[in-house]
Amino acid sequence: MRLDLVGKRFGWLKVQEEMEPNEHGHSMFLCECGCGKKKIIRGHNLKNGSVTSCGCKRKRVNDFLWKNKNEDHILLLPDFDRHTYIY
Ligand SMILES: [Zn+2]
Repeated sequence: MRLDLVGKRFGWLKVQEEMEPNEHGHSMFLCECGCGKKKIIRGHNLKNGSVTSCGCKRKRVNDFLWKNKNEDHILLLPDFDRHTYIY
């Protein structure tokens, strides 16, 4: 299934353009992280909230989720400011 994610935000990532599918046929997207880095990320991982930054934020998110186990929706918040305010 094609994912239409260009222009959307996932955590700290803003999806910039769709890339060629990877070797498994997964949709891949070029994303810009809030820290300024660009990274190509699988669309599925963006949609399910498992990737919300280029990797610079992963540890902090894990810490946060560990303390807030029932609030995994926080990963899907598209709003950059609300996301940063958590910390
Ligand atoms: Zn980053």
